[in-house]
Amino acid sequence: MNNKEVEQQHNKSIESIKKYAKENGFEIPEILKYKCVAIGYLNINEEFEKGEVSNNFLVKLRVLYNEGGVTGTLGFHECEFCIDEGNYKERGMSNTEKELVDKENKIRYKFPEMIFHYITEHKFKPSNEFIEFVMRS
Ligand SMILES: [Zn+2]
Repeated sequence: MNNKEVEQQHNKSIESIKKYAKENGFEIPEILKYKCVAIGYLNINEEFEKGEVSNNFLVKLRVLYNEGGVTGTLGFHECEFCIDEGNYKERGMSNTEKELVDKENKIRYKFPEMIFHYITEHKFKPSNEFIEFVMRS
């Protein structure tokens, strides 16, 4: 799945929760109304932003990733860029993802554990908004 598909899936499940809540007279929590932004669900057919990120950012992101729970993704994801390069032996793999909530900007960020591999091995650079959010979290 790419970023867009992750967001669509999220929005679909929120819609069904909203519908259920409405039918049953529940108030849905404010947090469910936040915008979902998926980051780092990369695939070989799409361009992605490249650049350097600070080591502080990486460390901070890892700390946040390890705090609390992670969710299992649908199936096991293997790095398509490694496989494409013939680097099958050392390809990145993961089957977990994480959600972090930016209450200030009302955003729910979703990202796969693969983001660490993409950043360190393939120079993926997440959006500045996300980097700033992580640094002030
Ligand atoms: Zn890779």
